[in-house]
Amino acid sequence: MATVKEEKMEVLPVKREHYSLIIGGERVESVSGETYTTYNPATGEAVATVAKASIEDAERAVQAARHAFDNGKWKRFPVGKRARVLNKIASIMRSRFNELVELEVLDSGKTISAAQGQVMQAIEDFEFYAGAIVGHRGNVNSMPGQFFNYTQKEPVGVCAQIIPWNYPLMMAAWKIAPALAAGCSVVLKPASLTPLTAIVLTEICHEAGVPEGVVNVLPGSGSKIGNYLVEHPIVDKVAFTGSTPIGKDIMAKASQTLKRVTLELGGKSPSLIFEDADVEAAVNGSLFGIFYNTGQSCEARSRIYIHESIYDQFIEKFVEKTKQLKLGNTLDAGTHVGAIISKDQLETIDSYVQSAIEDGATVLAGGKPAVVEGYEKGYWYEPTIIADVNHSMKAVKEEIFGPVAVVMKFKDEKEVIGLANDSEYGLASAIWTKDHARATRVANEIKSGIVMINTPFSAFPGTPFGGYKQSGFGRELSIETLDLYSETKSVLSYFGAKPLNPFGL
Ligand code: NAP
Ligand code: MG
Repeated sequence: MATVKEEKMEVLPVKREHYSLIIGGERVESVSGETYTTYNPATGEAVATVAKASIEDAERAVQAARHAFDNGKWKRFPVGKRARVLNKIASIMRSRFNELVELEVLDSGKTISAAQGQVMQAIEDFEFYAGAIVGHRGNVNSMPGQFFNYTQKEPVGVCAQIIPWNYPLMMAAWKIAPALAAGCSVVLKPASLTPLTAIVLTEICHEAGVPEGVVNVLPGSGSKIGNYLVEHPIVDKVAFTGSTPIGKDIMAKASQTLKRVTLELGGKSPSLIFEDADVEAAVNGSLFGIFYNTGQSCEARSRIYIHESIYDQFIEKFVEKTKQLKLGNTLDAGTHVGAIISKDQLETIDSYVQSAIEDGATVLAGGKPAVVEGYEKGYWYEPTIIADVNHSMKAVKEEIFGPVAVVMKFKDEKEVIGLANDSEYGLASAIWTKDHARATRVANEIKSGIVMINTPFSAFPGTPFGGYKQSGFGRELSIETLDLYSETKSVLSYFGAKPLNPFGL
């Protein structure tokens, strides 16, 4: 009897000096031999070197994913077995929780408390999809006479998944978990600035029993590798999270081969704080809504509308607490706000703040790059609140993607709904009121994919996450995501005793 050769990928420490590409179940270096260094944005220190994928590597990864999809066993596994592997991925991640958290903190400059929540959610995403896929199935449809019709869900195929730097591991989980659950193959392109935890997750997938070629990871240039994947004729789907301009470019390019596309893009999400809100809770929630993850969140609540009767009270507390936020040691659980991802991003944030000042706005807190003792080589920005603004200002209309909130007064419900909806984006919104009827009424009128009522939390495994308008389309993190990684096949059969002869010949 022939023996099956099983060469498992060697398990390496989560934190190490060098990270490779993973193609066809193997750790490989770039064909070009190129590598680059990733840095900790909080300290400016080097974290590790990473193989930098070339076009040739991308081609190999696409072919490996195609081969695994067309000829491999993953999509043919009984669904319970795929679920078992997803649960195994989660349990390995759980056993390396602290190491994954530390690596995420070092590579991204975020705080340890933020990273802990995000790594935990990434784990729970795999557990969620392990359960959800078991119930994901087709229907039997009503048919006339002797006909019978059923639908079945089939995996869409090879998926290119391109993710940003703000939630490096969580975004990788949001992408890989539903794709694997549905039976697809994946080529993941992490953000160049934060590739490390996505590489480790891909290694863990192999350790847990995902067959070779089913998940491939290609750290490398977005404009080269990302673009190559989007245009590739044998890639069936692109799932992208990132900025709106690149999302538009991807949609246009993917249309050439009619790839399935899902886009999770930018936002400029509002908080609506009504006169009957619990002001303390609204202040605390708004603080988290904008300054969590250093404001580098697509769903950051960066526009805050406050009813005129509680405006002064709200602002006094909001400014006071903003000034108490601690920046600094990202590995200390007491630090509230982490670093900005890069020098470019820091300059972008500051230019938005300066433009608001030039337009006549008033800075109530922050307003400039922060000097953090002991972290002078990192990129830091003061948690910032800007008042005296209006909807013609750039800082109010555009996504800043940093720790900057704009605050405005409103008089009544109708006015604030109009203000909230006056944006090209529509990702999330938060409503703060004790009046449940009002909360529901306003939630119905708001044009955003996510509405939070009296809570700053926007995403749990199972809750659909995605936008209206130019925030993109498609929903992640939920049962319906599985449909976006599936095709529905309709199978129609005839069981009549008399053979059919429609032309009557
Ligand atoms: P980005 O510049 O759009 O980059 C996102 C990803 O796309 C990166 O992996 C990037 O690679 C790659 N990329 C760049 N150019 C590309 C191209 N021409 N073709 C294909 N891929 C390309 O965005 P970012 O600056 O990393 O992230 C911030 C943005 O993402 C914000 O606007 C934010 O709102 C949005 N975001 C949205 C969500 C959501 O769920 N809606 C979540 C997180 C972030 P490189 O790293 O090599 O450039
Ligand atoms: Mg980095």
